[in-house]
Amino acid sequence: MNFPTTQDGLYINGQWSSGDQHLRVINPVTEALLTTVNGGEERAVDQALNAATQALVQWSNTTGAERGALLRRIAAGVRAARERLMHLQSSNNGKPLFEAAIDVDDVVATFEYYAELAEGLDARQDSPLALPSDDFRARLRREPCGVVGLIVPWNFPMVTTAWKLAPALAAGCCVVLKPSEVTPLPELELASIIAECGLPHGVFNLICGTGLAVGAPLATDPRVAKISFTGSNAVGVQVMQRAAETVKGVSLELGGKSSLLVLADADLELAVELACGGGFFNAGQMCSATSRVLVADELADEFLQRLKTRAEAIRVADPFDPDVEMGALVNQAQYQRVLGHIDRGLSAGATLVCGGQRPAHLPRGYFLQPTVFTDVPVDSELWCEEIFGPVLCVRRFTSLEQAIALANDSRFGLVASVVNRDTEVAEQVANALQAGLVWINAPQVIFPQAAWGGYKQSSMGRELGPWGLAAFQEIKHVVRAV
Ligand code: NAD
Repeated sequence: MNFPTTQDGLYINGQWSSGDQHLRVINPVTEALLTTVNGGEERAVDQALNAATQALVQWSNTTGAERGALLRRIAAGVRAARERLMHLQSSNNGKPLFEAAIDVDDVVATFEYYAELAEGLDARQDSPLALPSDDFRARLRREPCGVVGLIVPWNFPMVTTAWKLAPALAAGCCVVLKPSEVTPLPELELASIIAECGLPHGVFNLICGTGLAVGAPLATDPRVAKISFTGSNAVGVQVMQRAAETVKGVSLELGGKSSLLVLADADLELAVELACGGGFFNAGQMCSATSRVLVADELADEFLQRLKTRAEAIRVADPFDPDVEMGALVNQAQYQRVLGHIDRGLSAGATLVCGGQRPAHLPRGYFLQPTVFTDVPVDSELWCEEIFGPVLCVRRFTSLEQAIALANDSRFGLVASVVNRDTEVAEQVANALQAGLVWINAPQVIFPQAAWGGYKQSSMGRELGPWGLAAFQEIKHVVRAV
């Protein structure tokens, strides 16, 4: 794929332009420069917020059906650009092309789902509320919360964006989107698609730039009614602190340290496949990575042997290689961060089962072998902190109570997986886990209809489903004396 040397990084009020911030976009496979994106800073945020504030007057008064039609047009535009978007995802992020296809299809499904919810809003608007008095009548309105700032990370570009953008537009909000400075290319292409869909100018604005230059002013500005943020806990806390000054609404999707529980009655082959999927999909750079694997003691030796064999056979390769199973990590900083975790895990006394190094056949690029540790001390960084790389930590358990306690012993609570043939037991374990989403004998399937988000420090609020739409709505009651 050929990239222009420099690209406009601002889409404000229906116009493309270049800012003064030069963001170097790196190819994670070659470590070479892909392109430079000219992003913005505070002045661009000011312009975008002016445009969004003006556009809100009309956009917030459109019908749900009108907004639904535009969302369907965006979904169709994304579907038509599927191949190009897949290539951009893989080129910029390093993920295999087949994973990028899943991402693009998710974006289409999300826009279609929220088109449907937007269309359903008109019939529900002004619904009567039963009151315990005949002297009053009350009606309920769901109104957009205003101009919203969307800040997203680099691990699932476009997907995290769609989970915010589609419900925000469906609700009638105007948007300023800040993609990750590491992976702006898929969002730039998405913005080009949206630009062709006939949204009124100013309804959707995009500003590429760093967190401090763009994200921080967005989180601070009083014109922003709500910030929806996905990223690290450290930055999420900063966003919340800034937003507190003007009492903005805040939704946060943050980190995870999730568990896969292999119970005594598990199908071992399935357990190994799900452990690899939960640990190595997207090179493990997933908030939902099930990086803690808890195995019933009686299965543990056999499971570890099979997991080692499977992990060592995973084909780490260029994302465009037709046989690739795992691609590259996103950039040098993330690569070094993961290697640091591996080193410190070894120093803490964990036993390396396999991996831990650059694959010998890939001398360049941010490639790492699928890595498995066992005997990981429960107070070690490896066990407690999010690694965000292809690293699994396996521990044994001797009772269900112990497994549940080990899984719940975390400041995070995003997701969990349970593997067991006896699904009644698996369902009971699912009920006991502190996680927003639990899969039983299933890979990490995500439906736009179901909620996304977790317990404890993983999230504040929920995305997707009707909860994702409600996150961008205000509730108004009008009560009239009769
Ligand atoms: P990050 O927190 O470094 O950055 C996320 C976004 O915030 C980027 O766009 C960045 O530019 C911006 N940002 C940075 N500093 C900012 C500031 N001071 N004010 C406002 N914005 C700022 O995260 P990352 O490294 O891009 O992504 C990895 C993290 O994202 C992981 O912790 C992962 O768990 C989390 N994540 C969570 C979910 C979820 O759904 N829970 C999904 C994907 C990723």
